Amino acid sequence: MQQNICKISKIGIPRAMSYYHNYPFYHGFFKELGIEIVLSDKTTSKLINEGTKHVVSETCLPIKVFVGHVINLLDKGITNIFIPSIQSIDYKINNCSKIRGLPEIIRNVIDRPFNMIEPTLDKTEKIGFYDFWNYTANAVGVTDKKLIKKAIDAGWEKYDNFLEMTKLGISYQTALENALNGVFENRHLQSVKPLSVVIMAHGYNLFDERISLNLIKKLEKMNVKVYTALNVSKENSIKSIHELGELMYWANEADLTGAAAYYLLNNKVDGIIAISAFGCGPDSLMVDEISYHAKKANMPMMNLTIDEHTGEAGFVTRLDAFIDMLVRKKRKETLIKTKINSISENEQKTEEKRLGFSNLH
Ligand code: SF4
Repeated sequence: MQQNICKISKIGIPRAMSYYHNYPFYHGFFKELGIEIVLSDKTTSKLINEGTKHVVSETCLPIKVFVGHVINLLDKGITNIFIPSIQSIDYKINNCSKIRGLPEIIRNVIDRPFNMIEPTLDKTEKIGFYDFWNYTANAVGVTDKKLIKKAIDAGWEKYDNFLEMTKLGISYQTALENALNGVFENRHLQSVKPLSVVIMAHGYNLFDERISLNLIKKLEKMNVKVYTALNVSKENSIKSIHELGELMYWANEADLTGAAAYYLLNNKVDGIIAISAFGCGPDSLMVDEISYHAKKANMPMMNLTIDEHTGEAGFVTRLDAFIDMLVRKKRKETLIKTKINSISENEQKTEEKRLGFSNLH
């Protein structure tokens, strides 16, 4: 039997970028290999400032944040850090150049010695999941094929449970904690609230509470039901993009355009909130696409552009104004429907005209 020598006992994982979507997999995989995971601390303004100092100012906020997390791990004395290069997730479905070149960015901006575990996923070039995880295992000193397979299975199990729970309506944080602890909650959460919105955003912007300035919690406090890409199956997201007549090019397109398109086409929400990073090319294209279709469908949409200077006060003012507008719009529509149902066809037309109904559609 092949002997495994696990050369690495600890691995650092930056709490940024792919962490927000893939951490259940990373957790299952490394734990099965018997490797301790050390996460960087949660994002703070100090950590963002640290990352910002190392890159040119035009760099998007998530990359500045990622750099800050790597520095945070180095400050904790971690010398093996997992920094994947996720090039394409399907044939010609690509990530942006910054995500593709993440290891290169870090190598060039952080001048401190450490060992980077930098597997590549590039389905366009036929470098798939097995190659990605096999490389990772070898890089941490594990070569036993059976153990690698077992670790991949453990990763999938946690990842699938996490996704399944979020589809049932369980919050991101609870689903994550449950998945990491090996708990599966099989209960549908269908809370009914007077207003609902879908948030169109990368997981690394939305679920990082400092970057999103706690957007989900703020909306929930306003009694607004929040939907995200995690509540829609990948099949439905992709189908919705095609139904809008759009094409998929970006790796995050299913999560952003797809989720917004699904709720828009099914008329399931009262509004769309997009969070996009200042200077992000893919975000601006995807937000423009959805804005166009939202306008055609008379669905209100707000785009919050974020960078390291985004302040809480301006953010909350815009959010309050948007939600207030949704409430007024919904009240008006409800009033119109109530009146229209109780009058004749001629009276209905007159009433529609008087209330400006035609302006709403
Ligand atoms: S997709 Fe946009 S926000 Fe994300 S890393 Fe690339 S440029 Fe930055």
